[in-house]
Amino acid sequence: MKKLFVAKNIGFCFGVKRTVEMAERLLAEYGEIYSTGDIVHNPLVMDALKAKGLKVVKKTAEIKGERFIVRSHGIGIDVFDYLEKRGIKVFDATCPSVKKIQSLIKKLDNRKYSIIIIGNEQHPEVIGLKKHGKNTVVFGGSCSPVKIKKSERVAVIGQTTLSFEEYIRRIRCLMELSPGREVMVYNTICKVTGERQKEAVEISKKADAVFVLGGRHSSNTAKLFETVKKHNRRAFYIEQMKDIEGISLAGINSIGLVSGTSTSDGFISEVKKYIKKKRYREVQ
Ligand code: SF4
Repeated sequence: MKKLFVAKNIGFCFGVKRTVEMAERLLAEYGEIYSTGDIVHNPLVMDALKAKGLKVVKKTAEIKGERFIVRSHGIGIDVFDYLEKRGIKVFDATCPSVKKIQSLIKKLDNRKYSIIIIGNEQHPEVIGLKKHGKNTVVFGGSCSPVKIKKSERVAVIGQTTLSFEEYIRRIRCLMELSPGREVMVYNTICKVTGERQKEAVEISKKADAVFVLGGRHSSNTAKLFETVKKHNRRAFYIEQMKDIEGISLAGINSIGLVSGTSTSDGFISEVKKYIKKKRYREVQ
């Protein structure tokens, strides 16, 4: 019998679910609402929301309507202020876990800490976090020194979707660059992504091939894919059905299915249906 292993932690995480449900509710009520950038990183989910009236613009200056929804990754205080000045009603769909980090940054900023954010400088979550404090700096992938005055107290926080290994690796590098300095490190890594990583390793070890479902721009899906690749030489990144249709299943007796946190249940069901048609049976 050919087997299909489906991860227990699959589909939307609570943060993405909350954002998508809020957007759907608002679109049903008002018909049109603006956002800057994709509110969740999945093209299929975004296409469905756009069809219901979501207007995605690159810059806030391009907003022509009266209502705005904040993406799950959050936005900076400067954007909130700008929207308020323009009289635009803001609906905050920031993931509660990201919101908590934004408040932490504000608190540390008031206590005069220098705040180092470990993460990807180009990612919307990090762009937003940076603007919640006056004294914030991003420490990216390359281990190059960050400019902090000797007298300043330092606090470190991480982008929610970093793996623990990656966070620890970068903290270590930071420590080596600043010997003797007192550094306060906060664990801001989202539990949800950690659990998915762990399960992905287990599934990768027992399946012949693993399908990682999620958007190409989704940071947590990309990291999940990297993890799966380390443990399984037949890892496939599946964003849309056309990505799966070209894959030869010859000699593959078991398939593992994992997903990023912004992959919808609808898409997962479609993929499962396709695999089951190829005579794979779902097992625990
Ligand atoms: S992965 Fe975690 S931090 Fe990101 S949206 Fe989901 S719950 Fe929030």
